[in-house]
Amino acid sequence: MSQPDADALVVGGGLAGMAAAIAVAQAGLETIHLAPPAPPDRRTSALMMPSVEYLQSAGLVNDPEEIGHPLTQIRIIDATNRLIRAPETLFDAAEAGLAAFGWNFANMRLMERFQAVAHELPNLRVEAASLATLEAGTATLADGSRLQAPLIVGADGKKSLVRGAAGLVARETAFTQSALVCDLDLGRPIGGTSIEFHYPQGPFTLVPAGGNRANLVWIDDHQVLVAAREGSPESLLALLQEKSQRLFGRISLVSPAFVFPLSNLTVDRAGTEGVVLVGEAAHAFPPIGAQGLNLGLRDVADLASALATVDRSAPDWAHVVSRDYARRRANDLARTGGMVDTLFRSLLAEMIPAQALRAGGLWALKLAPVLRKQAFAVGMGRR
Ligand SMILES: Cc1cc2nc3c(=O)[nH]c(=O)nc-3n(C[C@H](O)[C@H](O)[C@H](O)COP(=O)(O)OP(=O)(O)OC[C@H]3O[C@@H](n4cnc5c(N)ncnc54)[C@H](O)[C@@H]3O)c2cc1C
Repeated sequence: MSQPDADALVVGGGLAGMAAAIAVAQAGLETIHLAPPAPPDRRTSALMMPSVEYLQSAGLVNDPEEIGHPLTQIRIIDATNRLIRAPETLFDAAEAGLAAFGWNFANMRLMERFQAVAHELPNLRVEAASLATLEAGTATLADGSRLQAPLIVGADGKKSLVRGAAGLVARETAFTQSALVCDLDLGRPIGGTSIEFHYPQGPFTLVPAGGNRANLVWIDDHQVLVAAREGSPESLLALLQEKSQRLFGRISLVSPAFVFPLSNLTVDRAGTEGVVLVGEAAHAFPPIGAQGLNLGLRDVADLASALATVDRSAPDWAHVVSRDYARRRANDLARTGGMVDTLFRSLLAEMIPAQALRAGGLWALKLAPVLRKQAFAVGMGRR
């Protein structure tokens, strides 16, 4: 490689890519971040306490209260009419000795915070350009210019070009379900309680967004959601009233509705030969149990740890980082991906044994404090 342009090139300007670029620059590397303009991300992210603690330690969020809303309870309502129904279950953070399980943030607010921090880092250069090809450590951008860096961080989402160029194999399974998201004002406040109605086609979840406001994540067959989005606002509201079992009085829509197709994506390894993958370039799954960005931030935390321990005077330091990173991420990626996949399939399963298992599991969680504690720890991504 001729004289590199930087120590690291981070590709992708989503939340995982922003957090990664900041972490790499904070580790002292000369960093170029390829972040082409993208439409505003109007989703929200429920981030569990370990993620919030990471954001605070990296200076990305000061007091979560400034931009987020606490999640203090999770209420699960089995709305399936199945033969074997699960009990209504309430998980309370206080039971786990916590003030909150986590915080719900608007992705756009997180992005503003991340951009403000990135702006202050003198060794982080942001280029509003796309990667066109990556060959033997040389990145060619869409405008034909070339960049070289020993360490390449692929944060370029599910269709990651970096992943393909590095020969890292991904398996993706598309679901027939999608997720519809929008913001609602309810007829009464829901405090810090996230309320999940479990329907046979997927959960319908209201996440607290302060006062009477809730962020809806409704998982259902793609065609049903597209028809709901494309119908009149009145017909959408009537559907939302019905799905929320008319528990919240008058509901109004306070944002447009967006539909996101869902899939499961896993990789065998998250790093090789000077290339590492973070965020959805390495893993994607349905938004069940709020794991996606939480896992992406754990990727970034492990990348920061790998960078903190490597000897950068060694000629192959970037290869050492990618090997170390892949090793650090292996268990968490396998465990979280497996957990979310099992949970999602059990929510949809029509088979009686699966229904019985899930209902039995929820009864066990409802009744056994030890199991509840373990479930809290796994759901929150505590290591
Ligand atoms: C409906 C829904 C609700 C969710 N809720 C939660 C939640 O509550 N909690 C949680 O933890 N997670 C949640 N998630 C998951 C979370 O949103 C994602 O994990 C996270 O946004 C992924 O971020 P990312 O940066 O990896 O990917 P993306 O946001 O997809 O960013 C990838 C970026 O790469 C860029 N890019 C692509 N190709 C190139 C290229 N060739 N060159 C340069 N740039 C490129 C794109 O422009 C894009 O900006 C949810 C997901 C969905 C669908």
